Amino acid sequence: MKKIAIVTGGTRGIGHAIALALKADGYDVIATYHGNEEAAQKFRNETGCEALKFDVADYAACEDAVKKVEAGHGPVQILVNNAGITRDGMLHKMPKENWHDVIETNLTSCFNMCRLVVPGMRERNFGRIINISSINGQKGQFGQVNYSAAKAGILGLTRALATEVAAKGITVNAICPGYIETDMTAGMKQEVLDSIIRQIPVTRMGQPDEIAALVSFLASEKAAFITGATIAANGGQYMS
Ligand code: NDP
Repeated sequence: MKKIAIVTGGTRGIGHAIALALKADGYDVIATYHGNEEAAQKFRNETGCEALKFDVADYAACEDAVKKVEAGHGPVQILVNNAGITRDGMLHKMPKENWHDVIETNLTSCFNMCRLVVPGMRERNFGRIINISSINGQKGQFGQVNYSAAKAGILGLTRALATEVAAKGITVNAICPGYIETDMTAGMKQEVLDSIIRQIPVTRMGQPDEIAALVSFLASEKAAFITGATIAANGGQYMS
């Protein structure tokens, strides 16, 4: 029987590449999204996979969605917490809502989804949770107090949860992508991108499928001894 994988924010960008990679690996993939119907429909047509619309920041909505997935597909073995947003600005000018929205969408979402799938994974003695953090959660980034805090929070959640579930055959890992070519970075000014690329030893931005390849490995049986890890995929831009 096919293993079931949920990829939040799986209809666009990095999540889309992750969904394609996991489908190619033989998983029954369910992608989630928030509002972009066009991308979701394109994803459904292209993959034949289900795309579910809900807000990952809303616990009750996550609960409904996980119940729907379990009823329609079966128990969830792989969870990729990928959905994320940015609301950049310096702290002294940041509206409280921009702090709140980024923390809820990027970090609380990971709690929500993990809280809902971990009990079942514990019962079945198997699970793979992969959280998409960011280089900016590791090093901090000017204009991203909210985003850097949320992404650093994911690293703490990953390590703590990994210790709680390791004996139950569940691994929990975080990936910190560097700058990847997606809609999220397409919105940045070219001169800012150029200055970032000058800081990347491989001299280019990353591609979504370069993150997906890592997710594919971490989701596999082969990665059973890797847990609580923070794995950077950033072209050498930040080494810790
Ligand atoms: P995109 O903006 O291209 O896609 C974001 C995805 O998340 C979309 O599918 C979007 O849905 C979904 N999403 C956003 N908010 C919500 C929400 N409240 N509920 C449910 N789904 C939501 O992002 P990327 O592919 O660039 O980024 C993916 C992840 O990787 C994010 O966590 C990001 O922080 C992280 N990352 C990205 C980097 C980059 O350079 N691109 C670098 C480091 C980390 P919809 O399509 O409906 O809007």
